[in-house]
Amino acid sequence: MTKENMNAVSVKELQDTQKYTYQQLLEGNRIFVENELKQDPDYFKKLAAGQNPNVLWIGCSDSRVPANQVTNTKPGDIFVHRNIANVCVHSDMNMLSVLDYAVNVLKIKHVIVAGHYGCGGVAAAMTNQQFGLIDNWLRHIKDVYRLHSHELDLITDDKRRSNRLVELNVIEQVFNLCKTTIVQNAWRERDDLEVHGWVIDISTGKVKDMHVSCSNADNLGKVFALNKVDKVKETQE
Ligand SMILES: [Zn+2]
Repeated sequence: MTKENMNAVSVKELQDTQKYTYQQLLEGNRIFVENELKQDPDYFKKLAAGQNPNVLWIGCSDSRVPANQVTNTKPGDIFVHRNIANVCVHSDMNMLSVLDYAVNVLKIKHVIVAGHYGCGGVAAAMTNQQFGLIDNWLRHIKDVYRLHSHELDLITDDKRRSNRLVELNVIEQVFNLCKTTIVQNAWRERDDLEVHGWVIDISTGKVKDMHVSCSNADNLGKVFALNKVDKVKETQE
């Protein structure tokens, strides 16, 4: 049996064993509630009272990288936005609404962009194949490739090149968040908001901190740093 065939068999086995039925999900909820109440009879009363998370997680939709499990946290601890390949686009009203609410209402202190090695969205963006509607979304990742093609084109191994693009994509999305008026205005008002970039290695469960944390607009580059709104008015007067 070739290595490819062995991989194909294991994927088939995964498909057979990991699918929960609809009824199993409802039963799973019953067990979840029962277990939580066993540990703390007031658990859901406390949860229902409100949320006060300290972190916004912008991660990939991939089923293997759930924010709470990866960070050993509980419901109520992390405000979450996920999309294919954890992309932060300045015209995405969904992402911007989540970011605005998290930063300005919940006053979270950390935004984490969390990508992961083996990301299907990133791998797809590296090909020339058409996948349908998603091609429009993946084009944002192709733009990241174009920005870093001088480095990526030198990596001959497809998996290594794909994983490096995962890292570069996280770094670019951190940068994209820092460019937003939401983050820049928050930095003017408080000095406790940080934007971070992580890559999760699904094969070990471990997080790699990309060490690109930003807490001010100092390194954004001249064209992306924005003036205060009243300063714009002053210039117009
Ligand atoms: Zn992914």
